[in-house]
Amino acid sequence: MIEFRQVTKRYDSDHTALRQVNFSLARGELAFLTGHSGAGKSTLLKLIMVMERPSAGEVIVGGQMLNKLPKRQIPYIRRHIGVVFQNHQLLFDRTVFDNVAMPLEVMGVPARDIGRRVRASLDKVGLLNKEKMSPLQLSGGEQQRVGIARAVVNKPPVLLADEPTGNLDPELSADIMHLFGQFSQVGVTVLIASHDIALINDMQRRTLTLDHGQLIAGGGHGG
Ligand code: ADP
Ligand code: ADP
Repeated sequence: MIEFRQVTKRYDSDHTALRQVNFSLARGELAFLTGHSGAGKSTLLKLIMVMERPSAGEVIVGGQMLNKLPKRQIPYIRRHIGVVFQNHQLLFDRTVFDNVAMPLEVMGVPARDIGRRVRASLDKVGLLNKEKMSPLQLSGGEQQRVGIARAVVNKPPVLLADEPTGNLDPELSADIMHLFGQFSQVGVTVLIASHDIALINDMQRRTLTLDHGQLIAGGGHGG
């Protein structure tokens, strides 16, 4: 579902953020992406989201080579990639329902379908009864769940998370990880960038480790 072939990313001539990175993640696989600050984790995620392009090598998502993808096609690729952020980037002046509905509204999904799909998504994260609230009325863990519901509301085959448990205590972090595990079980490919070594060790999942832009563990092909 996600494949990197000899991917190098240079931001300027003397600064290489990723060096000849090779790995592939199968459909339904869940993996962590770890490494020190500046190791290249965000760069790797940005290449999958087509927010950056590789300097060399190939990035393939869902069978599509992204390197030479025309700009106008980027929004269509992004619809297939759900993204969860550490600070969840919710709009506090809108309800939980409206926050989750946003990606569908952008896509022009008819209103009657929006209600059904938003509720299906809120149900998956256990927040069906909070749809009318403001995110401000929710706990940090619940806010993160709203962020996840929004990321999966159009059923993307790929889910990326950038430090999704950065602000959460260990118990809530474990709940969030359990949720990611459930998405992978229904076929979603999940890649979670995290510094949280204790959590990563607990999960016992494949872990891609970057060190100064090189993939030093977890590369190759999983399954
Ligand atoms: P991480 O997410 O692991 O902290 P990043 O991918 O953000 O690592 O950064 C990898 C390296 O690339 C760092 O040395 C960083 O300073 C550099 N870098 C990241 N983004 C840019 C950019 N837009 N322009 C120049 N250098 C960048
Ligand atoms: P519908 O929207 O058609 O009424 P649901 O939203 O209830 O259906 O989901 C149908 C099935 O698809 C569920 O088992 C769900 O877990 C699964 N599924 C497949 N891919 C995803 C995804 N990316 N995000 C969430 N659920 C998914």
